[in-house]
Amino acid sequence: MRTEMLIGGKWTAGSGGPSFVTRNPATGEVIAELSEATAADVDAAVTAAAAAFEPWAAMLPAARATLLWRIADLIEQQGEELAALESLDQGQTLPVSGGFSIPNLVEHFRYYAGWATKITGSTVALSVPNVDYRTRREPLGVCGLIVPWNFPLPILGWKLAPALATGNTVVIKPAEQTSLSTLRLAELLEEAGVPAGVVNVVTGGPDTGKALVAHPGVAKISFTGSTAVGREIAADAGRALKKVSLELGGKAPSIIAADADIDAVIEPNALGGLLNTGQICAAFTRFYVDRKRVDEFTAKLAGVASHLPVGPATDPNALIGPLVSEEHRASVERYLETGTAEGARLVTGGGRPEGGGYFLEPAVLGGVTQDMRVAREEIFGPVLSVLAYDDPEELAPLANDSEYGLAAAIWSRDIGTATRLANEVKAGTVWINMAPAQDAAAAWGGMKSSGLGREMGWAGIDAYTQVKSIWTALA
Ligand code: NAD
Repeated sequence: MRTEMLIGGKWTAGSGGPSFVTRNPATGEVIAELSEATAADVDAAVTAAAAAFEPWAAMLPAARATLLWRIADLIEQQGEELAALESLDQGQTLPVSGGFSIPNLVEHFRYYAGWATKITGSTVALSVPNVDYRTRREPLGVCGLIVPWNFPLPILGWKLAPALATGNTVVIKPAEQTSLSTLRLAELLEEAGVPAGVVNVVTGGPDTGKALVAHPGVAKISFTGSTAVGREIAADAGRALKKVSLELGGKAPSIIAADADIDAVIEPNALGGLLNTGQICAAFTRFYVDRKRVDEFTAKLAGVASHLPVGPATDPNALIGPLVSEEHRASVERYLETGTAEGARLVTGGGRPEGGGYFLEPAVLGGVTQDMRVAREEIFGPVLSVLAYDDPEELAPLANDSEYGLAAAIWSRDIGTATRLANEVKAGTVWINMAPAQDAAAAWGGMKSSGLGREMGWAGIDAYTQVKSIWTALA
């Protein structure tokens, strides 16, 4: 198991920063000790990435495409091992790590391998006499990629694959709770033949992230994490006029229209709220249900939630794993207390199952109202809040009454209702009659305080390139 950082093609313990531990959330046991990268380590990583930039950017597109495809193959070959490591460090059950995280990572490398040979500029007819005019898309330089703990590998892949496909070099900072799979991936990148310095990994917490954001040699920061930290990064990057992409928090509404088939929508809604133990930025957290049917919906949702097997990734039947840390479980529990103190009803769950680890039984809160903190703030855990509505005209305003705008779901058998709501809801992604899904070709990102910019699809290429205008005098 790799625990050192990767700087300029060398594995190193860094320059003496304090050590920190990473734990198995299913048991609370320490898995490994790592070193926090100091500002000097970050500087060394950025310097290595800057030195590697020109030859990497000059690599022929077809060669880069072949290399990205080889990376995808290697990840796939080591898929079981990587999934087990992700589960050990993050707590994901195997259906999540093996069924989503690894295939999603592979898919992004293959998708952007395809783009590497399809990056074009344009020639444009200008109204200036005697000139030829064309545009070129060029890489940005050194990109700092800062990743959260909930989906360490896929979220890294959404950034790393397009950054490499377009000829950038990178310094990655994984989350301090979940660095191990990123370090193993870095080893696979070396094995695939990625030149030294093109990909560097610095381990550590917020201070390491801050040093990366502050470094003058970094052209762009791509950050996924909380809205509070995103605001700080945007402010710092703004002062330095660095490019920035931000994928931030969410509070996704799931709108159950009056005509929806309740029996058919319960399971995908429970899945949408509880996948990865609710530690998903796009998790369904606010369920808006017609007051006439809200009791039926709440009882059926609680029925499904209370029967989902909770357990560690080593249990092949487990669907709900632990929360990532003791602190995070305590934070989710505080939200349950706040919710009930504000008048919500705990219909099921919220208890700690027997045994060690940071487990929490999935909870359903009934009688939630729009003003309650559980309806407004991101909980990022297995807590489903059900709210009643009286008038369908209220639905879009209720869904939009949030600082967040990452994702939303709409359930209706009427195409007009579903389409109108999808147009009215302020969210970067809307799913109609389906559980959350992602695809490397589908743009991903948030409106309002859920972020700036988009990842995936063409948006991923746009996010890691800049356009140059070239004018040539013809006479
Ligand atoms: P976080 O903001 O605490 O940390 C994210 C990363 O930023 C970590 O690597 C952390 O070490 C680093 N960091 C912390 N403070 C920093 C600072 N001041 N400067 C630079 N780096 C800093 O978030 P988290 O708790 O790890 O992740 C959960 C959050 O991520 C949730 O809000 C969730 O909604 C969000 N998220 C969003 C998406 C999306 O696609 N929009 C996806 C996953 C998670």
